[in-house]
Amino acid sequence: MNRKQSSLLYTEALEHIVGGVNSPSRSFKAVGGGAPVFMKRAQGAHFWDVDDNRYIDYLAAYGPIITGHAHPHITEAITRAVSNGALYGTPTELEIQLARMLKEAIPSMDKVRFVNSGTEAVMTTIRVARAYTKRNKIIKFAGCYHGHSDLVLVAAGSGPSTLGIPDSAGIPTSIANEVITVPFNDLDGLRQALEHWGDDVAAVMVEPIVGNFGMVMPKPGFLEGLCRMAHDNGSLVIYDEVITAFRFHYGSTQTYAGLENHDAIQPDLTALGKIIGGGLPIGAYGGTKQVMEQVAPLGPAYQAGTMAGNPASISAGIACLEVLQGERVYEEMERLAITLTEGLQSSADVHGVPLTINRIRGAFSTHFCDHPVTNYDEAQDTDGEAFGEFFRHMLDRGINLAPSKYEAWFLTTAHTDADIEATLTAADEAFRLMAQ
Ligand code: PLP
Repeated sequence: MNRKQSSLLYTEALEHIVGGVNSPSRSFKAVGGGAPVFMKRAQGAHFWDVDDNRYIDYLAAYGPIITGHAHPHITEAITRAVSNGALYGTPTELEIQLARMLKEAIPSMDKVRFVNSGTEAVMTTIRVARAYTKRNKIIKFAGCYHGHSDLVLVAAGSGPSTLGIPDSAGIPTSIANEVITVPFNDLDGLRQALEHWGDDVAAVMVEPIVGNFGMVMPKPGFLEGLCRMAHDNGSLVIYDEVITAFRFHYGSTQTYAGLENHDAIQPDLTALGKIIGGGLPIGAYGGTKQVMEQVAPLGPAYQAGTMAGNPASISAGIACLEVLQGERVYEEMERLAITLTEGLQSSADVHGVPLTINRIRGAFSTHFCDHPVTNYDEAQDTDGEAFGEFFRHMLDRGINLAPSKYEAWFLTTAHTDADIEATLTAADEAFRLMAQ
């Protein structure tokens, strides 16, 4: 496949943009280096690059594009919004509508506040939890990624791990010291951390279903134990549902049928992003009334935003959720994901390439290893070089994956059986070449 224009643009980008990319996860550093592909157009489940190659897309822009690219209902909503003025700096009725939709789907949130990214949402939940509990420390789980604010870059998965810098430079030790990291799915680890730092712990923060070191389900009882222990300790529970909300069903992990005993797994605060903006910049956080009343102008925890709640992002979010309310939307994404993962697994098995797939409805991760992946250590203990080779073979056959062994594949409402079939043909060829 000829990608000459991409190479030329990358050389030019390196002159002007640090590392040539505006988010490190877009670089190809972790999959053997070289020029990332410069896309010029996207429609449905497909991308076209600047050399006119077509790709089937499973990146879905790292999650938000669950309805496929340029979905007409969302495009129309955005166009209507911006033609009425892109940014007001005043409240709008649209914000109430989206807030109401989020609250109906995620009942633990009595009150919501919109921000501009998942990073902002998470960062503010921490501030609010600290304000409410008057404590400073946060417990997080190794390999969970919560955006790029100082506190949560400690032992973060996804992008930072891919680049081998799970603890970013530029974060004062005094801040890193406020974060305690324990392994995901390890209630004993959490118990020990709470026993040791109990009175200082403002919140336990978790991706309740992990999306950042592959897709990893909590073990039965993990979220229940986490919520009980945190609350017994007087700490709040923060769910980072930036990836998971509206990903597996119309709702979030807190109400996901794959997890039982919903009453026992309700958080105090939830951070949202990605899908709720339909592809435009957005974040939101929400929680119980008494906790959210810490936030200015009601309370002492300050958080603000010039762009927050802008009509375009809010309209795109409403339109995206409307599409997701359609009949059998999630069932169909799951059906395609089952066909795809079963085909990938059997192809890998036939060619003798060790592969573990973690699938949750329409999203899954591929781990080049022969053991289960239930925590970050196990996700790290997989063959990154094999993933890099697979990634390149797939790219050369027109399949666009995230350039990291830790990232998920996302099905969208735009993928078809023909896309899956073409992907499986490419994968079979990729595994065959890898086995040589
Ligand atoms: N939280 C989770 C679970 C994420 O996966 C991400 C981004 O990938 C974030 C937070 C940060 O969101 P954003 O990139 O919108 O700042």
